[in-house]
Amino acid sequence: MMKDEVYRELQEALGPENVSREPAVLDGYTWQPFTDILGLPDSWCRYRPVAVVLPGSTGEVQEVVRICGRNGLQFKAMSTGWGAWNALGGENTVQIDLKRMNRILEIDEKNMYAVVEPLAICSQLQAEAMKRGLNCHIIGAGCGSSPLASATSLCGYGWSGLTTSYSARNVLGVEWVLPDGEVLRIGTLGQDAGWFNGDGPGPSLRGAMRGFMGACGGLGVFTRCAIKLFPWPGPEEPQVDGLLIDVTADVPDTHAMFLIAFPDLKRWADAAYHIADAEIGYIMCKNSIGAMAATMIPRGLKRLTRFPVFKEMLKALRFQFQFMICARTPREFAYQKAVLEEIVEECEGICIDLRKLPEMHGAFWWGFVRAAMPPLIFRMGGTFGTSYGALEGFDHPAYQSQEGARLKALFTEAGRLMDDLADNSWGGIYEGSTGFGHQEELYIYDPRDPEQLEAAEDYLASTLTDTALKKLGPGLGFAGGAIVAEIFGPLIGDYHEWLRRIKAAFDPDNVSDPAFYVSPDPEKLIMQEVELRPRMALNLLAAGQDEKGGSE
Ligand SMILES: Cc1cc2nc3c(=O)[nH]c(=O)nc-3n(C[C@H](O)[C@H](O)[C@H](O)COP(=O)(O)OP(=O)(O)OC[C@H]3O[C@@H](n4cnc5c(N)ncnc54)[C@H](O)[C@@H]3O)c2cc1C
Repeated sequence: MMKDEVYRELQEALGPENVSREPAVLDGYTWQPFTDILGLPDSWCRYRPVAVVLPGSTGEVQEVVRICGRNGLQFKAMSTGWGAWNALGGENTVQIDLKRMNRILEIDEKNMYAVVEPLAICSQLQAEAMKRGLNCHIIGAGCGSSPLASATSLCGYGWSGLTTSYSARNVLGVEWVLPDGEVLRIGTLGQDAGWFNGDGPGPSLRGAMRGFMGACGGLGVFTRCAIKLFPWPGPEEPQVDGLLIDVTADVPDTHAMFLIAFPDLKRWADAAYHIADAEIGYIMCKNSIGAMAATMIPRGLKRLTRFPVFKEMLKALRFQFQFMICARTPREFAYQKAVLEEIVEECEGICIDLRKLPEMHGAFWWGFVRAAMPPLIFRMGGTFGTSYGALEGFDHPAYQSQEGARLKALFTEAGRLMDDLADNSWGGIYEGSTGFGHQEELYIYDPRDPEQLEAAEDYLASTLTDTALKKLGPGLGFAGGAIVAEIFGPLIGDYHEWLRRIKAAFDPDNVSDPAFYVSPDPEKLIMQEVELRPRMALNLLAAGQDEKGGSE
């Protein structure tokens, strides 16, 4: 419960129209997708905010943060609020919804960056950037997500990672309201030298600010940041009509999409390295055959997987990725295509030119450039989860995808999870010739079916233990709340203790809700989790004992 005088303080700071404690409004913030990763299968989070506030400026965010600190309340920021990562970790928490801060403040064409507020979403930024021959990175959540949230507070890879890198690397200068209400400006911004660099002069704070996974609202509120932009060799205003797969688009003659498949994992990974080294292509991303069928023809996939022969035919194409060339001139296009053909031949692959299916080509072209297709992943089961996804030299993601498919087959073959042909890994190489990338293994299930829910939890537990036992490194499957740091920190350089030290230094009074970052009271957290998720706890305990047995 929030005292009336505190509520009035908030109203005075933001205006009464920007503060609410109406039960129906609060309930709206208490329902989030993907809560099953927290052991909450019906999407209702454990805690309802005591109030929701909509600040309109950095100054107003500071006011809210200070009011919370003075009155023993916690706060939790959200931008789009599209997932369980926005769920509150306890009672007495104010949800800071940043939807009024939705502006693109600046696009610096020459230095290729944009300065954005939290709810300037990717589609908004991309449309403006394209008018200037530029493009932004869009994570797999799609063009409705917030580039600021992803860059400062979570992690994120997207289809165009080959050329647009990934969110954690694209964040430049940042304006950050600390948990005590002070504003910290990091990177060149902190020296009044502009937004162009996220580091220095002097020591960089980007690692403390976000690390690999981001603090998910556990270290204050980010109110503005600069995002790196990349060249867009395409139309300033793409001509597109329709939605999702029913899209028609005018694809430039110098753009084309290909589906490329290889006989085995080794040759698939070799081709990816060669493409990265040759610095060709705009998009190179594996959307597995299972994922493509589950999104495009979900009912068809359910029928096809009943017949072993059809399943094997589809699985023959599992070592594949989609590849897009976006060139400026016909000459550049011809060069990139010739290099691609040479690589495909060397790695004994096949290359299907999707321009031969013009309608599908247009829809795919826009779907991949705009990252407009993510909602389709909900078609088959109603929800999905993800696992593995450590960011490493590409051999390692390739191995993770194999591990994911091996483990998942135990569930799909037993009919416990939906049959997505087991291999449903997604991702690719980032930043051209760097040669590092990720593959996360998706799994699809119907959250209304208690048996599938149980299987989803068992599958996730098995991937986490597999990751720990084989030392595969932390990936996106780790975005499961502060408990994950307690389980895996001891195996990975005690990173949980480092997070705790950063949290104590930046937020000694624990005002910024740490539920998806690190807990100041790990024992209490572990007890709570065991009580809430006994099945997961038993799974992980059994795996720990296996490891002990193995090492004896
Ligand atoms: C189909 C689908 C595919 C997905 N694929 C990907 C993927 O490829 N990569 C990926 O990273 N995620 C993916 N996700 C998950 C996605 O990141 C989350 O759904 C996320 O919530 C998207 O919204 P957002 O980035 O706008 O952040 P929000 O939902 O607003 O917030 C994300 C986290 O950041 C914190 N936060 C937000 N804004 C601020 C702020 N201004 N200051 C401090 N903390 C803040 C929040 O507290 C929360 O913990 C996917 C989701 C879907 C539905």
